[in-house]
Amino acid sequence: MSNPVIVVHYHEVWLKGRNRRFFLGKLSTALRQALQGIPVVRIEKPGDRFVVTLGDSAPQQEAMARVERVFGIAFYALARTVERNMEAICQAAWEESESLRFESFAVRAKRSDKSFLQSSMEIESVVGRYLLEKLKAAGRTVKVRLKDPEATCYVEITSGPALVYARKIPGAGGLPANTAGRIMCLLSGGYDSAVAAYHMMKRGAHLSFAHFYGSGAKPGESSLHVASALARQLVPYQFHAKLYRIPFEPIQREIVRYAPENYRVLLYRRMMLRIAEVLAKRDRALALITGDSLGQVASQTLRNLIAVDSAARMVVFRPLIGTDKMEILATARKIGTYDISSEPFHDCCPIFLPRMPALYASGEELDEAESKLDVPALVTQGLRSTTLEQFHYQGAEIKSEVFPALQYRASRNIATA
Ligand code: ATP
Ligand code: MG
Repeated sequence: MSNPVIVVHYHEVWLKGRNRRFFLGKLSTALRQALQGIPVVRIEKPGDRFVVTLGDSAPQQEAMARVERVFGIAFYALARTVERNMEAICQAAWEESESLRFESFAVRAKRSDKSFLQSSMEIESVVGRYLLEKLKAAGRTVKVRLKDPEATCYVEITSGPALVYARKIPGAGGLPANTAGRIMCLLSGGYDSAVAAYHMMKRGAHLSFAHFYGSGAKPGESSLHVASALARQLVPYQFHAKLYRIPFEPIQREIVRYAPENYRVLLYRRMMLRIAEVLAKRDRALALITGDSLGQVASQTLRNLIAVDSAARMVVFRPLIGTDKMEILATARKIGTYDISSEPFHDCCPIFLPRMPALYASGEELDEAESKLDVPALVTQGLRSTTLEQFHYQGAEIKSEVFPALQYRASRNIATA
């Protein structure tokens, strides 16, 4: 028997002109990286698809689970490879369909190699008739239904072998990893920012993460381990990532001491953006991401978001701005961050929470509210105490390494209010 293969179909939309080679190269790299540690004989590209030939001993379900998280894939399937003759194709179609439960089915054929004698329609009708007879002979009540069949058996005639499969799985969609540039994501321990990160990774961005944590909590109780677990959960989408960890309580204390109470949360956010921006530059990231959703909490009214942004020089993307919490939570469940974010942790923001937070601040008001603070010194203080955790995807396991405080000199580039 020939080795099992995974057939991978990608989205056509992003295959524009000269970009084609670039995107397909990145997708091929992503497939290789995703399958690290699993025996792969080769990855080929006959026609508009990738065919991954697994080694004899390869754990097939594990390989399929890895491909599930590769962005840029429209659908994929474990397929049988057979010689390019109708007899072998019919036999494989039967073996594929035999164990599936369905009452209606169709055969879909695609002939990428036009030198094959039969047309797609001919293949469909020959294989369809063969299956119908075999299924009926086996006592099954089935009929052919071309529109909305319960099961579909696919036949693809490539320049190499013929591929036959009946269990097609929707892929992760989006664009291949690391095709859209770098962005810095402000990652709290909550649900939203991890989902925001996922959306941008899905568009091909490579993310670094910045997490601000309260230093007052006991070890294991701060949000640090939650942020770390979230980053770890997201790493398989992009294969490596940096998580910058910034102790935030000393900065919050200064804000509490020197700024009006009702602006506190907004000023926390401005400090987060400023520090994240310097770290972004360090990583050559060109923009920032947050998990804000319009009107979700007081700090996320339209005016407050704009007032917060006036402290940033980089563009701040908010991929969840127009989504409901229910939609966000559904995505969090899908990508496996929900349970991590549900863990109790000591969030830095609620401490010193104002009784009456401002709902309609302006940039000028926040500038004024910060006037007694030495903003550049606070940014530098944050950067000096920042530690770095680096994650590397290595197939079945994700390695991480923590580096001690990064040393920064006061930077002239720091945005001051
Ligand atoms: P999430 O929004 O992720 O559920 P949250 O509800 O605790 O977490 P919000 O108060 O809604 O956070 O904060 C809005 C956004 O600000 C977050 O999505 C995140 O991008 C950023 N943010 C808040 N707190 C932190 C933090 N401690 N570290 C890094 N970013 C943060
Ligand atoms: Mg939120």
